[in-house]
Amino acid sequence: MERNLTFVSIQEAVQEAYNLYKENTDGKNADYIPYLAQIDSRLFGISVCLLDGRSIEAGDTQYAFGIESVSKVHTAILALRQYGAEKLLSMIGADATGLPFNSIIAILLENDHPSTPLVNAGAIAACSMVKPIGDARAKWEAIVDNLTQLSGSAPVLIDELYRSESATNFNNRSIAWLLKNYGRIYDDPDMSLDLYTRQCSLGITAHQLAICGATIANKGLNPVTQQNVFDGAFAPQITSLIATVGFYEHTGDWLYTSGLPAKSGVGGGIMGVLPGVMGIAAFAPPIDEAGNSVKAQLAVKHIMNRLGLSVFSGDRVTITD
Ligand code: GLN
Repeated sequence: MERNLTFVSIQEAVQEAYNLYKENTDGKNADYIPYLAQIDSRLFGISVCLLDGRSIEAGDTQYAFGIESVSKVHTAILALRQYGAEKLLSMIGADATGLPFNSIIAILLENDHPSTPLVNAGAIAACSMVKPIGDARAKWEAIVDNLTQLSGSAPVLIDELYRSESATNFNNRSIAWLLKNYGRIYDDPDMSLDLYTRQCSLGITAHQLAICGATIANKGLNPVTQQNVFDGAFAPQITSLIATVGFYEHTGDWLYTSGLPAKSGVGGGIMGVLPGVMGIAAFAPPIDEAGNSVKAQLAVKHIMNRLGLSVFSGDRVTITD
């Protein structure tokens, strides 16, 4: 079926979602990372980026919050760019874990593979894969450059978040060394973990995340900068990784109710990809027990349902003014 949306109908859906959930107080800021606990929990922003580069926004879309696990998508893309699709599958995997993002048992259950670059184990492994091997500084530059290209502008390291997370990441330290034990860390484990912690501590805005979502939806061509960031052949693979495990143990419920492949982070951000149509991002710090932002989920779901969109509909969507 052909579906035509107008620019105004998207604007209305975004504003409606914002108004509907602005006062919602469900969920709680992440508190296992001290910095995140003290962020103003009333912050709320929604941003949609269309494939012609135009943004539709409501609320706090210029506030730079901790990107956290959403950055796993960016570095998975970098690993794909550097190694290709087959190597990513054999060195990390592309499977759902159905378990929390920081699960250690998931590593053991999946025959010692980290499962997917979109949980902590796989993301630390992906950081270890980033080239040039052995050069922490150049690896970090590659991670930030890739993220900048995808989002159209540079993220800013939130130093306090980085220090807060480095001082408390004991579970992740165990993961890094357990992976080393199984030969699934491809560089120094402590350095790989540090890169992962640092990338999670990058500040990003909902505006930037929507552009990144749109770049993936646009097969690697950033619709704002017009830069071809990655080979379009990777786009379905990236979106399938996101669809499979983007909301951890709640991924199935999320996909069923929203129809949108999306990735969350405990900083309160969500980045969604509707292939061929748009990128959608939302941000609000209070999260549910799986680590997904309560308000951002409600808002994105509202927009998808209100506009009758789903990645599974088979509809051809066009957008006119
Ligand atoms: N840096 C966080 C962690 O490793 C990211 C978790 C998340 O956003 N789900 O625990």
